[in-house]
Parts: sequence; C-alpha cells; structure tokens
Amino acid sequence: MKQIPGIKKEAFDLIDKNEDAIVTINDSIFAFAKIAMQEFETCKLVSDVLKEQGFTIETGISGFPTAVLATYGSGSPIIALHTEYDALPGGSQQAGVTERKPVVEGGPGHAEGHNCGAAVMLGALFAIKEVMERHKLGGTLKFFGVPAEELVLPRPFFVRDGYFNDADVVVNCHIAHDLSTTYGVRNYGNINAEFEFFGKSAHASTSPWTGVSAVDAAKLMDIGWDVLREHLPLSQRSHSVFMDAGVVPNMVPDYARIWFMFRNSTSDGVRMLFEKAKNVAEGAAKMTGCTWKAKITAAPSPGTDNQRMAEVMQKNIDLVGMPKWTDEDVELAKRIQKAAGVPEVGLLPDVTPLKKAVQDTSSNDGGDITWVVPHARLHFPSNVPGVPFHHWCAGISPATPIGHKGALVGAKVVAGTVCDLLTEPGLIDEIKKSFAAEMEGIEFESLLPDDAKAPVGLNKAVMDSFRPELEKHYVKKPVKFVK
Ligand SMILES: [Zn+2]
Repeated sequence: MKQIPGIKKEAFDLIDKNEDAIVTINDSIFAFAKIAMQEFETCKLVSDVLKEQGFTIETGISGFPTAVLATYGSGSPIIALHTEYDALPGGSQQAGVTERKPVVEGGPGHAEGHNCGAAVMLGALFAIKEVMERHKLGGTLKFFGVPAEELVLPRPFFVRDGYFNDADVVVNCHIAHDLSTTYGVRNYGNINAEFEFFGKSAHASTSPWTGVSAVDAAKLMDIGWDVLREHLPLSQRSHSVFMDAGVVPNMVPDYARIWFMFRNSTSDGVRMLFEKAKNVAEGAAKMTGCTWKAKITAAPSPGTDNQRMAEVMQKNIDLVGMPKWTDEDVELAKRIQKAAGVPEVGLLPDVTPLKKAVQDTSSNDGGDITWVVPHARLHFPSNVPGVPFHHWCAGISPATPIGHKGALVGAKVVAGTVCDLLTEPGLIDEIKKSFAAEMEGIEFESLLPDDAKAPVGLNKAVMDSFRPELEKHYVKKPVKFVK
C-alpha cells in the first residue's frame, strides 16, 4: 500500500467521499450533449457548482457566451486549470449500450467524452479548495471551462486577450484509455478557414452565359488544392467540406463557401499551407470571374508540455494508480471493442510510465497556452483502449462505471498535482526555469488573427431543434458536495 502524504490524503478522501457528486456532474453533462457554442446548460451547471463553493464566476470571456472563468483564493502561486465540455454533432449514443442506439436520433452526443473532463476538474477543484481552506494555503485557482473544443476554437482567444498572463503554471486534462502524461510537442497546429466566392446568378438554361458560378470557383479551388497536395510536405494534413454550394440546379449559384482545415507540425508550416491556399483561391476566382475572400475562423498552435510539470504529474499518477476495474467493466470494454472492430483487449491494469510525447496529427485549441505558461496535460482512463474518438463507440463508456472510475482517478491526479504545486517550496521556480530552457530561442506567435471574433450563435438552430428531445433525458439530480 502506497503511503499518501497528509494533505493529499485529505484531498483524495474528499474526492472519494464526493463520488456521487462527481458522477452526477459527469452524467449530467453527458445528457446535456451540447455542441460548440451552445453549451448553455453545461456552463450553468459548472458555474453554479463552483459558485456554491465560493469561486468567483465570470462567463462569456473573450466573447464566448458558454465559457466559464472561476477564480478562488488570492496571491501567488496562480494555478490555472482548464478543460473542454462540448459534444459532437451526430454523436448521440446510449451509455453502456454496445449497438448503435442514439439517445436522440441524429442528435449530438459525447463521442469524445468531454463530459468526463469537466467531472475530473470539478471534483479536483472542490478537494483542492477545501484543503486550501483547512490548511490556510495561499494561492489562486483559476478554472477555465472551455466550449467548442471540437472546432478548436476559444483558447487562442483567451491567450490573445491576456487571461493566462498572470498564471504561473497550467494543468489540463483530457479523456483517454490510459492514465498518463507526456512532455514535449504532442500534436499539430491548425488553421480553420472559410473561403467565400461571389459570382452572378442567372437562369441556368436560358442565359447561362450571363451567369458567374461561385460553386464552380469553390470546386476548382478544391480540385486545385488536391493537385497541389502532391507537392506539399508529407507532414501536412488538409481537408475540406462545402458549406454553401448553390440552391437549385436551374439557377447559376452566385455564392459558395468552402471550409478548409490546414494542419502541420509547426505553426510556420500551417501558415505556409494557408498562404498557398489563398493563391489557389485566387486562381479559381480568376478562372471563373468570381471574387473571393478568406476568413480564419479558428487557429490553434501545436501543443507542448513542460517536462518538470510532467514529472510532478507522473509522481501523482504513480501514487493514485489505475481504477480497480471489475470483471463487468472489462467485459463491457471488450464488447465496446468488438462493436468498434478493434482488438478485444479489455482495460489497462497499470498506469503508463512518463515519456516524451510522440507528435500526432490531431489538434486541440489549448495549444497556444502551452507556449506562454508551463503546462501539464493529464490523460485519464474513461475511454476504452483502441476505440477511436468521434466514433459512436467512444460515446458508450463516458457515462458508465468505466467513465466514472476514470474520472475519479483523474480528479485525484489533478488534485495531487496541484497540492504539490501549492506546498512544495521552490517547485514552481524550478518549473519556470525548466520552461525557460525549453522555450529558449522560441518567439511565440499565435496563428489567430488579432481581429478574430467568437462565432456567437453558431449551431443555435440545430441545438434548438434537438433540445426538447434531449431534455427528456437530463439527469434530474442536484449536485451536492460534502466536506
Ligand atoms: Zn477532446
């Protein structure tokens, strides 16, 4: 049996004692299933829970109506925590059911388990602030509840607007199939851009020669980009969808909109792709006689994590250990794996050792934070090994005992890490030195344009259409934390 030092033991005991509250938060946000920019119920739940615990609440930061900034305590160190809580369009799936069974047909759902991240953070925050109070520990907690991660949206805005300027260190968590952390560059930068083309409408049969088709320009841009792809560095990833592509065939369409994502391993590599895409758009517009414009809608940098922070987090991972999985948990995991068509290996019994990150091609809007403040990211095991996110099978475990147990160990690791940051003399200075060494010679420049604005109202119509059906499945149980 591992010996848990005093203050941490209190924090862990508080988390165990409040399992019911943490699970209720987890399952409530799962049931809300709100997609990007429409997380109003989630934002309210998170705000209400933290307000009751004495946090000062600010919503709507950087113009994102469903973002929360909750602050507790005073003075240094200032420890920021953040996690996302949005769902995915079309991701609706009944928890624990291993055939395709949406809660609401065609509706949104947590096919990436962001509901669990919020449960981890609220559980951890309760325990941390409680031990801070009991032991009169100085310091400030700042929790950022993040909307619209699936559109890699808000956090570059938060950084741009100075919300992380005074933070000493930052702790983040994300659902995974293991209990782990890494250091170094972990994922890709990404520019999301919309290209609009403007033509001239005409009767498509009686006078097509008087028309200028904006859809033709968008098609040519897409084809042009595909041809160019052969001559782009192998590191790049780019993908597009048509957002507006005409209304009826017998009318020459005067408007078209195509949405591209340009990803690369470095921010300069992402910028290079976007610059080339603008040339392709210009060419397509010239060929067809259209005019065009481009707008960057989201633009996170790659994410990197600090090694010293990761070491501190790993110590807590080793201390907490994996959840005690039951035979039923393992059996459910295998059924989920079978449904997803991946090896039926069950659940991991052991924590993952600390290692340097292997950069993958995904993106997360938290990237910008990691270049301005020392940052650690926890992966906690509420998903099942091998099951890919954004697949309906990844929406099965986040509101089952697997999801709950994963969230509980996640909360303990976050709480333990913050306890170390608050109480170990000199630790934060050490982390800052290590961060300064990692960032030597790097001049961080965000990919986000200075004038970018939050897309308020995005997804409103679609969310309004599903809300009445979703409401029938909300968890009707108050969240009650006990000291
Ligand atoms: Zn995610």
